[in-house]
Amino acid sequence: MLNYEDDNIKVLEYAGSDNQQIAKWKCLCKHCGNIFITRGSTIRNGDTQSCGCVHSQNEKKITKMLLENNIEFATQYTFSDLKGIGGRSLKFDFAIFKEGQLSHLIEYNGI
Ligand SMILES: [Zn+2]
Repeated sequence: MLNYEDDNIKVLEYAGSDNQQIAKWKCLCKHCGNIFITRGSTIRNGDTQSCGCVHSQNEKKITKMLLENNIEFATQYTFSDLKGIGGRSLKFDFAIFKEGQLSHLIEYNGI
């Protein structure tokens, strides 16, 4: 893992393990130069594409598209009974409304 490097990130050093004994690694984000810490498994899966900056840049692009097309929407949309692993509440990146009624949900780069 220590020598891992791709177009998005470079692993710098071991950063201990979390409370579930999962190894974490200190990484350099090649998109913005930020140093961040992430789990080794997410690096191996290819889930770690950046420190998070690329995701937010793309969310900005989607926001712009929705605004330009005069689409009614909300960001970080959640439901009271939408729960993830461990009971954590989950949010969709965007919710699209049609005449005040929820019409579509957009999840960018997530499950
Ligand atoms: Zn970044």
